[in-house]
Amino acid sequence: MFFKKKKRFGKIPTKAERELARKIITDKVDYFCSKYGFSYNRISIRNQTTRLGSCSTLKNLNFNWQIIKFPEDKMEYIIKHELAHLKHPNHGRSFWNEVYSMDPNYKNNHKWTKEHARKYLKF
Ligand SMILES: [Zn+2]
Repeated sequence: MFFKKKKRFGKIPTKAERELARKIITDKVDYFCSKYGFSYNRISIRNQTTRLGSCSTLKNLNFNWQIIKFPEDKMEYIIKHELAHLKHPNHGRSFWNEVYSMDPNYKNNHKWTKEHARKYLKF
């Protein structure tokens, strides 16, 4: 998931923030993986410039550490979105069906990230 405009999020996380983010995000990912039947290789927590999350063809998940500041359902949407990419490496119909099966409110959550995520990422 990307932002259209290239803009740095700014803040470099402290070690404590990075560790907290890793714990929160990893716990959520593991919970959803067992609930919905996904498996991944590894998770990286990053201070990225324009991405909230990504998923590689090697099943490595990357998340922007700052998503832990989002409302919980929005953070969960970002995680579910990337998990769906473990099965569907595109944004085709089957991908969105997968997202929908985990998050029936995904359209609103997706819209929210486009409109509001950046506010949470400013310091
Ligand atoms: Zn995507």
